[in-house]
Amino acid sequence: MTIYNFSAGPAVLPKPVLERAQAEMLDYQSSGMSVLELSHRSQEFETIIKEAENLLRELMAIPDHYKVLFLQGGASTQFSMIPMNLAKGKKAYYHVAGSWGKKAYTEALKLAQIIPFEPLLLASSEKDHFNKIPLYDKAVIDPEAAYVHITTNNTIEGTAIYDLPDTNGVPIVADMSSNILAVRYQVEEFGMIYAGAQKNIGPAGVTVVIIREDLLDQEPILSSMLDYKVHVQAHSLYNTPPVYSIYIAKMVFEWIKELGGLDQMELINREKSGLLYTFIEQSTFYNNPVKNPKDRSLSNVPFTTPSEALDSQFIKEAEKAGFKNIKGHRSVGGMRASIYNAFPREGVIALVNFMTQFEAQNSK
Ligand SMILES: *Cc1c(COP(=O)(O)O)cnc(C)c1O
Repeated sequence: MTIYNFSAGPAVLPKPVLERAQAEMLDYQSSGMSVLELSHRSQEFETIIKEAENLLRELMAIPDHYKVLFLQGGASTQFSMIPMNLAKGKKAYYHVAGSWGKKAYTEALKLAQIIPFEPLLLASSEKDHFNKIPLYDKAVIDPEAAYVHITTNNTIEGTAIYDLPDTNGVPIVADMSSNILAVRYQVEEFGMIYAGAQKNIGPAGVTVVIIREDLLDQEPILSSMLDYKVHVQAHSLYNTPPVYSIYIAKMVFEWIKELGGLDQMELINREKSGLLYTFIEQSTFYNNPVKNPKDRSLSNVPFTTPSEALDSQFIKEAEKAGFKNIKGHRSVGGMRASIYNAFPREGVIALVNFMTQFEAQNSK
């Protein structure tokens, strides 16, 4: 039976990447060692991390005045590092369109009790269960503020921001964990971008940070590990980086490049998610909680059946048919198909067929 993995993260990886990792597992490029055994100071790893950075720069067209870092601690550690490094005693706005954005804001509120800065809620769609991207009046933004934090893709709720909001000239800091490299964003429209790798880049354990040089704090941060500048100066080798995760990420970048690059990847994702959205739209049985097509995520597609009992039955039968991890996040229920870059188009078609069948058998 073919297995299709709809996990929201850690998620499916490109088969050719896993095959190459398997082939190189015991002996990386005749070094007589596995990448798992390489020193992070070795020539071999030096090359891997440099190539990873260069490939990411090329794919995303990252300008030279942005630094690229490979850090640890997940996207969640960034929720604290961002205010510590960037807030500089000023106001910091949070645009909250999902559970992760809310976590980022909550961490900022905690930190504001010990470091001087002012986190402010710019907009929130929480009262609508985050089923849309909230709007705001840009006039409320103090142009002297340090940053506006946004989440470009709300992994749990299935919404996304494709046209960046007007922030009155204040730098945008974006959590791009679940749609980095899925769609084209212009890097120069951001002050900083960060992403945990385990959704669209590679295995868990590495977090990509892309930061505009001038935003780096000139003052040392209390902890070296939480100081972007320390990591910039050490080229992400201040301490032992997640060597194997970076190695896999590098191969994922190569895979995207071979496929035709980021614009091609976006086309594929639009077509792939379109199949599912179009199917759900024409069905009277399935429902997508995200009503505005403009707000719909290309990466995470949530849907429900007419009842919770049918949702549970759907998940059970889907699991048996090889559709794994399609259960929605516990906070929203229903189903969620996470169809990141490496998720194959055939899997979406197979899911639509399964959904058609399930509807025929269970609708009155
Ligand atoms: C998964 C996710 C996170 C959390 O990432 P960790 O690496 O587990 O800390 C944060 N933000 C978004 C948008 C996510 O999808």
